[in-house]
Amino acid sequence: MSYDDNNIFAKILRGEIPCKKIYEDDHVLSFHDINPQKKIHALVIPKGKYIDFDDFSQKASPEEMVGLLKGISLVAKKLGISVDTGKGYRALANISEHGGQEVPHLHFHLFGGEKVGKMVE
Ligand code: AMP
Repeated sequence: MSYDDNNIFAKILRGEIPCKKIYEDDHVLSFHDINPQKKIHALVIPKGKYIDFDDFSQKASPEEMVGLLKGISLVAKKLGISVDTGKGYRALANISEHGGQEVPHLHFHLFGGEKVGKMVE
């Protein structure tokens, strides 16, 4: 499967569709999920064209990998849900069909602001 340039997050990255931006740097963009499942529900996406976590781990540069991990932690701090400023959160990536991934551009969900509940329902 090749990367679909018309997926919704690619359009957000190109500025063709608006988002409620939380954070941006050279490697990542973060914005609020349009359909929040918890009090706080943010998304963190790499700027590179990666379909899912497997694609990313095989093709991304070390800088992009570090950038994504640091980005997740930075966004959690910005949202006040990191361990030092809040009560913690859940970071989750759905991967492909069985993982329930709908948008084919790698993204981490950050859930917080309340108890997130069972890991798998
Ligand atoms: P997943 O099922 O892991 O692929 O998650 C995709 C997520 O993207 C869902 O939680 C959607 O609510 C969210 N989403 C879809 N379109 C948008 C959008 N335009 N802005 C923000 N979040 C979106």
